[in-house]
Amino acid sequence: PNAFMLQLREFLTRAGVEILSGTDVLGFEFQNKRVVQLKVSRDNQVQKLPVEELLLATGAWSQHLARALRLKLPIQAGKGYSFTLPQREGQRLRFPSILAEARVAITPMGEQLIRFGGTMEIGGLNDGINLNRVRGIVKAIPKYFNGYAVEMPKEPNIWYGLRPCSPDGMPYIGRSNQHDNLCIATGHAMMGLSLGPATGKLISEVITGKTPSAGMALFEIGRYARRQ
Ligand SMILES: Cc1cc2nc3c(=O)[nH]c(=O)nc-3n(C[C@H](O)[C@H](O)[C@H](O)COP(=O)(O)OP(=O)(O)OC[C@H]3O[C@@H](n4cnc5c(N)ncnc54)[C@H](O)[C@@H]3O)c2cc1C
Repeated sequence: PNAFMLQLREFLTRAGVEILSGTDVLGFEFQNKRVVQLKVSRDNQVQKLPVEELLLATGAWSQHLARALRLKLPIQAGKGYSFTLPQREGQRLRFPSILAEARVAITPMGEQLIRFGGTMEIGGLNDGINLNRVRGIVKAIPKYFNGYAVEMPKEPNIWYGLRPCSPDGMPYIGRSNQHDNLCIATGHAMMGLSLGPATGKLISEVITGKTPSAGMALFEIGRYARRQ
């Protein structure tokens, strides 16, 4: 993912996209069914940015921002952990695999490294590391790969990410009824990297007023707004 994101960033920058790193969206201003300004925190200052089209794609944080946009968009953060180790001479794991019962994924990263990841911890938006969850991954590995025992990684070597999970497991993709210039693309849970390109295609079609190249009914962003 790191190599992919660096290349994507380079591609977008070359295409003229300006990426404002270290900029937190704090709130929105509205006028006549449109979002007209973003309130952001940047360089320790609150600034306002004008909005033409707004795409909300803020992963596990989307529920809170959606609330500020006066939308009901249920999303829970599903935390997953991973750690990456050097490949072992004579015990090289060459193929990606999913240890289905243990819910652990094993992915060779280039030639030299192997990544172990898994778990789905629904525990809110926090940056704590639950070592018991990581221990579960460590213990599962030799059950599938005889003689491949792995030591518990040190905390600084454990990575975690928050997956954006919707109640029905489907993403939210489409244009809002609430604001004419607001679209949403989020809630991809465990599949965001794989589904990113298709989502990008669909949402670009929505934004530019083209007919979406796939059915969008299951992704409807207002599907929980009606179930009060
Ligand atoms: C251990 C693990 C393994 C995974 N493996 C896979 C896999 O093999 N294949 C796959 O397809 N997917 C995988 N995923 C899932 C994938 O990572 C997610 O689905 C994907 O990252 C979601 O993308 P996103 O852009 O919607 O959200 P994110 O990647 O979470 O990006 C949201 C961004 O919004 C920013 N943001 C939030 N609030 C604000 C704000 N107020 N102002 C400004 N910015 C804000 C955040 O900083 C963040 O950069 C895995 C996830 C985990 C945790």
